[in-house]
Amino acid sequence: MNFDFTEEQKLFAESVRRFAQAHLAKDALQRAHDSRFPFDVARLMSAQGLMGITIAEADGGQGGALMDAVIAIEQIAAVCPRSADVVQFGNFGPIRTFAEYGTAHQKKKWLTECLAGNAVISLGMSEPEAGSAVTDLKTSAKQDGSSYILNGTKVFSTFSPEASVFLVYVRYAPGVGGIGSVLVERGAGGFTIGPPQEFMSGEVWSELHFENCRIPAENVLLGPGGFKKQMAGFNVERLGNTARSLAFGRYCYDRAREYAAERQQFGRPLAEFQGLQWKFADMAIKLEGAQLLLYRAAANADKGLPSAYETAVAKAACNQTGFEVAHEAIQIMGAAGYSKSSLVEYCMRRCRGWMIAGGSIEMLKNRIAEHVFDRRFDQRPPKPKASEAAE
Ligand SMILES: Cc1cc2nc3c(=O)[nH]c(=O)nc-3n(C[C@H](O)[C@H](O)[C@H](O)COP(=O)(O)OP(=O)(O)OC[C@H]3O[C@@H](n4cnc5c(N)ncnc54)[C@H](O)[C@@H]3O)c2cc1C
Repeated sequence: MNFDFTEEQKLFAESVRRFAQAHLAKDALQRAHDSRFPFDVARLMSAQGLMGITIAEADGGQGGALMDAVIAIEQIAAVCPRSADVVQFGNFGPIRTFAEYGTAHQKKKWLTECLAGNAVISLGMSEPEAGSAVTDLKTSAKQDGSSYILNGTKVFSTFSPEASVFLVYVRYAPGVGGIGSVLVERGAGGFTIGPPQEFMSGEVWSELHFENCRIPAENVLLGPGGFKKQMAGFNVERLGNTARSLAFGRYCYDRAREYAAERQQFGRPLAEFQGLQWKFADMAIKLEGAQLLLYRAAANADKGLPSAYETAVAKAACNQTGFEVAHEAIQIMGAAGYSKSSLVEYCMRRCRGWMIAGGSIEMLKNRIAEHVFDRRFDQRPPKPKASEAAE
């Protein structure tokens, strides 16, 4: 067993770090406080080969491994945390599910512009009544000749105020087997996008309303029975959230470490107080452990999709670690860490969101418990027995 990067991975990590330092370091703070998608960064990353790292070359990607995309997130986040969102978008988000299952026509129409950094896709999965219980989704897609008619509402879709196309989970028929997904373009008749609303992280989202929205049948991404495939693609998105959580935690740890070495109180550097040294030891233990779980899930996926279990374990560990380390870093840095003139408070706010987004920590633990006991635990209340129902 070897825990080191290969020579190739080391060279790649160094080249991404050099790129980030040359192009992204200068405006890192300002970028974090700008809610707009940084298209300028996306175009730069596209030219640098950092978009579509794991997408096949035939589809305009780089044909690399998932581990390369994780390395890219880590190296970019270490210099400009906000720009890591572009690596997420270009490699892990709905773009990855789209590249996996899209038709040649769909890819030609939308993937090329996304990989060029000129367009973003937004994911319409959550609904007012279907959050963690995603299979309760109601947004319907009814076939009508050569088109489908959509009705329903989606909430919390990141990038929705700017996205040009939306990957929308829909219901063709009752039950889990009736779920699939479609692509809807901004501007489609019967599709309205509500005013932007803001998360604690500063990210914006809009409600998506479909009222007899007609789309051509060629916009179907996954038909009935597509839910499992969708979730398999979504595990890549989860791993991107996982990698960003850990990278943002590490960013805060590094800033706190530098600060503790420099800052003097009571005539000595903060680093000399044992109460703070132990905080650093605890942070290091958490970061190192979570890092190995992240790399295991990514390395085992190689060029494919990661395992649901390894992704769940890595995401729960990295989400928890990223937040706890960022939180502790603020404590160590005092008011300097709490101030918006440092990126540490920004990283903490972002890490908090990933404990909910893309499968909350509780839902991941449910998944892990099923693996532990090798059985399914239905989260729904038991159905009344036939004799009880008759009473
Ligand atoms: C930063 C951010 C970005 C997001 N981006 C998108 C996006 O781009 N597209 C999109 O469609 N959605 C997006 N979401 C929504 C996200 O997918 C949901 O927030 C998530 O699925 C949880 O749903 P909910 O918020 O409705 O919480 P609920 O499902 O109402 O859950 C509330 C609480 O109960 C817990 N809970 C629920 N069920 C169980 C259970 N069975 N066992 C134990 N605990 C349980 C949850 O863990 C949570 O703590 C985003 C959310 C955030 C925070």
